Amino acid sequence: MSPQLERLIKLQQFESTILDARATIASYPQRLADADARLNESKSVVDAVKARLKDNQEARRALDKDVAVYQGRLTKFKDQLSLVKTNKEYQAMQHEIATAQSDLGAVEEKVLERMLEADTIAADSKRAEAALAVRQKEIDAEKKDLAQELTSVEASLTRATDARAAIVKDLEPRLIALFEQVARVRKGVAISCATRDGLCSLCHVRLRPSVFQQVRANAEIIQCESCQRVLYWVPPPPPIEQAVVHHP
Ligand SMILES: [Zn+2]
Repeated sequence: MSPQLERLIKLQQFESTILDARATIASYPQRLADADARLNESKSVVDAVKARLKDNQEARRALDKDVAVYQGRLTKFKDQLSLVKTNKEYQAMQHEIATAQSDLGAVEEKVLERMLEADTIAADSKRAEAALAVRQKEIDAEKKDLAQELTSVEASLTRATDARAAIVKDLEPRLIALFEQVARVRKGVAISCATRDGLCSLCHVRLRPSVFQQVRANAEIIQCESCQRVLYWVPPPPPIEQAVVHHP
């Protein structure tokens, strides 16, 4: 293969590595943010349960006050019962006591409901906390992987950038210019191999037979007439020899 063509192929490999590495590095902040968003999702479930618990406790305190009020009223009426003089007063007081007792009963019913609700909330809280702990572990591991990936991608970017510079030094300036010009309009890919049946592997246009023949020689810089990429040829691997079966 012509050394210039070989260098162009290498240049493309390094160029592609550089582009991929830059894209990965650029996506890093978003991937971190996505991980944090997933963690925050679990945190907000825990917060919602905490808010329910707070509501429940506040309601409990209010109900406990009501219970104290009704109990106080009941005690007062019972004390007054011993002081009444007439049957009519006695009946009126009995009526007051019955009302206070029924009010107290209703509030106690509500206290019971809130206690049952508190049990449900406690179970939900346990579940949410456990889910958060699992998620936290996942996200920690994910961030560690991301950081490792970033380090390795940065290293490969440095290596590819150095290698690219070394290749460019040995490449004819007109070929560098050609490469860059085609790469700019072809999403960073300026080189394409020809397929075995004579197509440009990237734009899929059929090469003219004379062009295909030239490309297969790998001796010159030939551009695809359709996408302008520099074409090269990868000879098919030699056929695998049939395994020889030995009979004893
Ligand atoms: Zn093409």
